[in-house]
Amino acid sequence: MARILCVLYPDPESGYPPTYTRDDIPVITQYANGQTAPLPEADLGFKPGQLLGCVSGELGLRSWAESQGHELIVTSDKDGSDSEFEKYLPEAEVVISQPFWPAYLTKERIAKAHNLKLALTAGIGSDHVDLDAAAKAGITVAEVTGSNSISVAEHVVMMVLSLVRNYLPSHQIAVNGGWDIADCVSRSYDVEGMHFGTIGAGRIGLAVLRRLKAFDMPLHYTQRHQLDPTIESELGLTYHPDAESLARSVDIVNLQVPLYPSTERFFNREMLAKMKRGSYLINTARAQLVDQDAVVEALESGHLAGYAGDVWYPQPAPSNHPWRNMPWNGMTPHMSGTSLSAQARYAAGTLEILECFFGHSPIREDYLIVDNGGLAGTGAKSYKLN
Ligand code: NAD
Repeated sequence: MARILCVLYPDPESGYPPTYTRDDIPVITQYANGQTAPLPEADLGFKPGQLLGCVSGELGLRSWAESQGHELIVTSDKDGSDSEFEKYLPEAEVVISQPFWPAYLTKERIAKAHNLKLALTAGIGSDHVDLDAAAKAGITVAEVTGSNSISVAEHVVMMVLSLVRNYLPSHQIAVNGGWDIADCVSRSYDVEGMHFGTIGAGRIGLAVLRRLKAFDMPLHYTQRHQLDPTIESELGLTYHPDAESLARSVDIVNLQVPLYPSTERFFNREMLAKMKRGSYLINTARAQLVDQDAVVEALESGHLAGYAGDVWYPQPAPSNHPWRNMPWNGMTPHMSGTSLSAQARYAAGTLEILECFFGHSPIREDYLIVDNGGLAGTGAKSYKLN
């Protein structure tokens, strides 16, 4: 009936399926804001906890797609004009992509995608789609909002602790057979009492603030819409009218806003210069929010004490990307939002969205980014088209 083109990251080098370390995962039915976890009608084509985000995992969609008569094409070959993605794109009615291995849906590719009606992000963050071009072409863009927010928030907390306490270099000293305690601690501090600020306090940013409250850190935030006063007083939050005011005031800055034209490289050399010497910068949102070279320079000069994140540009990052070897970095490949726990939710959410789309019933407002020619749902609250 329809062609569904799904781009996923490659299988593990050691083969598929992997040997799982645990037999099950906790069942999460509701998120902190009251939103229910995805509820597709069809049976899930997987056991929660399985690896679904790679090509052989197929997001667990194979049996459902075949039962509905749809053609499901799954590939990791996404870049360049001779890629599988470009080959199958013109006839695809639905494209599914994950931010971890983004199939960039540029204006030029959208112009070739004559049949495309739905661009579905299996995860959160739809900046790999040119949203303006999608809106003009009448394509709906949807994502599984909420599915990996806590996964990412936990990753941010881990990065705050590992940078400030100098965990990664100290671990390396232990692995290398050393006992150089003075080297371990000469850059190691407690987070207690340090001022932490998040630029963007949506689902992830707010979850980070809630988790860091327990560490007795004064908490700051800025974002487009000020939070409810009861949340501000419960967490003792200081609100800043803009990113610059926050950057000047805190020891650790966390970026958690979506990427769209006016947030691109907004954290540039000038903004970095406004941070206190020895600040830390965490970015699990999108790499293009910051000036890539300015981050390297700030680490080399010692103005920044550390940078950690899991988002790069482009993805996958080339092996000589400067962020792989810059000093005091705690980078990982883009993995925070694709834990096995997160995959169970975003694969279920992908199925729920597909059922709504093919069943002509409304997709949840929270899942919509672009619909009916403009921003919609979460897209209207969190993105801008310019
Ligand atoms: P969200 O929509 O719940 O929150 C984003 C918040 O940013 C909104 O509250 C919005 O008001 C605010 N905002 C938008 N533009 C702003 C601006 N210019 N200045 C200040 N505030 C602004 O989104 P979320 O679920 O918290 O996710 C945030 C981002 O994190 C996503 O867009 C995505 O890029 C990234 N993300 C990364 C991963 C990962 O695996 N690393 C996973 C999920 C999401």
